[in-house]
Amino acid sequence: MPIPATAPPSRRQLVHSLLALGAGLTLPQSSFAAPDSADTVWPRDSRVPGGVARLSLGPAPQRPQVSADGIPSLVLGDMIEWTALIGIPLSATVGQHEALIHTESGRKTLAYQVIDKKYTEQRLKVSPKTVDLSAEDQARYERERAHQQSIIELFTQPLPKASNLPMQAPVNGRRSSSFGLRRVFNGQPRNPHSGMDIAAPTGTAVKAPLPGKVVDVGDYFFNGGTVWLDHGGGLLSMYCHLSSMQCKVGDVLGTGDAFCKVGATGRVTGPHLHWGVMLNRSMVDPALFLVR
Ligand SMILES: [Zn+2]
Repeated sequence: MPIPATAPPSRRQLVHSLLALGAGLTLPQSSFAAPDSADTVWPRDSRVPGGVARLSLGPAPQRPQVSADGIPSLVLGDMIEWTALIGIPLSATVGQHEALIHTESGRKTLAYQVIDKKYTEQRLKVSPKTVDLSAEDQARYERERAHQQSIIELFTQPLPKASNLPMQAPVNGRRSSSFGLRRVFNGQPRNPHSGMDIAAPTGTAVKAPLPGKVVDVGDYFFNGGTVWLDHGGGLLSMYCHLSSMQCKVGDVLGTGDAFCKVGATGRVTGPHLHWGVMLNRSMVDPALFLVR
């Protein structure tokens, strides 16, 4: 007589049996995070300056709290497997870094190695007044930087859904691989390029690559027409050099919703979208989030 094959328990069944066990341990049901979509592997793990370290935290009944360099990190997953996603700044030193993990059972550190990545140099010719700033423009830039800092520090709920992390490209167009390039404007070294440039004509609609909330709309000295979206948990995205913005602070967008248009405002050599993705206050390579 054939032995009936027993299917291995599904991930969801495992979660439910663990939830049942957890309930017996007096932890309230409401304290358990809803399971995220199973086995998500986004963004791609890339432990280089400007990359993302995906750290496996293993099982725990509740979502662990993680920080790196004193900045809270995004933790996704479910009680079977939690994953911390740590954005690595372009300025990160090569070598060992540590994340601090808090769970009900205590605190521990988890080390990860950041390896070197050689970003090449890009030399650009732009309007001289956007390189050697007048006193007035310098003061404007500093005000704008202080304002931007308040956006960068956002860490809001709800957290993004893991199933939304494979992002859609915000515009169709030729994507440059210019993230991280060391930039020299009119012969003078400046900050590295911290986003992805996508070539598209002025007026092309820009669409939300994942659900998010508009948290800033402005016209800035270097970035020109700019919109920031907050996706929760310290994941934000930024759209620059826009010709127009059809959105206001507080608007909630779904994936694919058009909210602004490509332009050539701010310090640019021509029309394109500058797309930035920020994780725990670090600009990281948007390509790590895109389905190829
Ligand atoms: Zn750019």
